[in-house]
Amino acid sequence: MGNFDPEEEVKRVSSKRNQNWWHRAQKIIPGGVNSPVRGFGAVGGVPVFMRRGEGPFVWDESGRKYIDFVGSWGPLILGHAYGPVVRAIQEAAARGTSFGTPTANEVRFAELIQERMPSMQQVRLVNSGTEAALSALRLARAHTGRTLILKFEGCYHGHVDQLLIAAGSGATTLGVPSSAGVPDLVAQQTVLAPYNDLQEVIGAVKKYPGQIAALIVEPVAGNMGVIPPEPGFLQGLRKLCSAEGIVLIFDEVMTGFRVSAGGAQELYGVRPDLSCLGKIIGGGLPVGAYGGRRAIMKHLAPLGPAYQAGTLSGNPVTVAAGLAALKNLRPAVYRSLELRAAELCQGLVRAAKEAGVELQVPRVG
Ligand code: PMP
Repeated sequence: MGNFDPEEEVKRVSSKRNQNWWHRAQKIIPGGVNSPVRGFGAVGGVPVFMRRGEGPFVWDESGRKYIDFVGSWGPLILGHAYGPVVRAIQEAAARGTSFGTPTANEVRFAELIQERMPSMQQVRLVNSGTEAALSALRLARAHTGRTLILKFEGCYHGHVDQLLIAAGSGATTLGVPSSAGVPDLVAQQTVLAPYNDLQEVIGAVKKYPGQIAALIVEPVAGNMGVIPPEPGFLQGLRKLCSAEGIVLIFDEVMTGFRVSAGGAQELYGVRPDLSCLGKIIGGGLPVGAYGGRRAIMKHLAPLGPAYQAGTLSGNPVTVAAGLAALKNLRPAVYRSLELRAAELCQGLVRAAKEAGVELQVPRVG
């Protein structure tokens, strides 16, 4: 165990074929990848090029089989090439991939999301978690007439200028807490607070009275390791936001339909004003959604003056995949995932203990 060198291990397993793709990729795609976390920066070695997946397994370009613990970073809660999702995609694609008009399935999809997350009285579909977060911020500003945003150190909400301040996830991996290219003037619109420290949050809010439009939080912090909320933290944020007229945004892009059927807001019993979704709700296709109180959503174009649009938003193929995924995420799935995850984590902790390695495996759902 002590001699384990991840770099050597990855070199050992990655074939010539994989290396070839990697060389070719680096020439034409910046860093060889279309999202930085795929660059293996945090684990070392050469990224593995995947060819196909089935259930919990993936196969790389050289035919090597892996157990996939990544699940495309969240969306594939039902596994790869899940039958009902694949069939829904095939059927939808055969009927036409985009119309630029509303479709019935968008309505069914929004209704299903609302059923599972009742705080989302109205739902707007977009194409990524990033887009959901940036749209929710604009809407919160339109609603409050205020400018500042409060976010937590280490929380990640996509690559939105104003949210790439002390972000987690890929930003942490790269050691770039604030991205180059984000203007100071934009960064200055973001107030930072430490996660799980309610007194600090109250202090930050008091410092900018009547100026903070929105407080955005990952209800379970998942981009700096897994950090569950301290008892009372989310409830405290809810109380504070209500008292100060701040829009409380839960970024449930990661936690939504994952930590429970109704997300973190159901698990902890806290109702945000707006929620951001992504990942799981697209069944593996590009997606995002945001929504919440009707009184806030009414500011959105074409109803109101806050503009947000998307040529491919609510795409028929994506929506079909999302509907199939959500319909198949029944309570029994969460019970089974809970048992399996507990077993896996206990096994990891036991193995580490036997090897004399100190290890914590924090987990929610
Ligand atoms: N919010 C959270 C909590 C996320 O974890 C992520 C992605 N990891 C995003 C937003 C951004 O979503 P996307 O990558 O789809 O833009």
